[in-house]
Amino acid sequence: MNADQWNQRYPIGTPVLAYPGVRPDHPLAIAVRQRQTDGMHVDLGDADLCRALTTVTRTPAWNLGHGDPVVSVEGYAGGISLTHVVPICGSQCPEHDHRCLRSPGHQKHICRDEKQKGTESCTWDSVAKAVTR
Ligand SMILES: [Zn+2]
Ligand SMILES: [Zn+2]
Repeated sequence: MNADQWNQRYPIGTPVLAYPGVRPDHPLAIAVRQRQTDGMHVDLGDADLCRALTTVTRTPAWNLGHGDPVVSVEGYAGGISLTHVVPICGSQCPEHDHRCLRSPGHQKHICRDEKQKGTESCTWDSVAKAVTR
């Protein structure tokens, strides 16, 4: 996706999951998640490289000099490659301090957050919440 396509689809303030370092499918990220699951020590630098931010975009996307489209997000200085920024639903869990990580406009009304550790997850009905509160 290039910057223009991104901007047509995702306005400033779009909820996203951003990976400033490596993507979650990178071998380092996989290794770090495994060590965290096993309760083993993770080097701080490695953990930082594998960090995921649940945030929103704060600029339109733009093309860097060499053509790599990037976008800026709240909580991080500078641009992050669009290949490291994943738009999400972003609906707030009524019970906890986390947001829905499913894709934007997902079909069912069940929102879901999956924590980094893998098995833990939380679901809620965003529509029921809107109606009853
Ligand atoms: Zn929750
Ligand atoms: Zn959702």
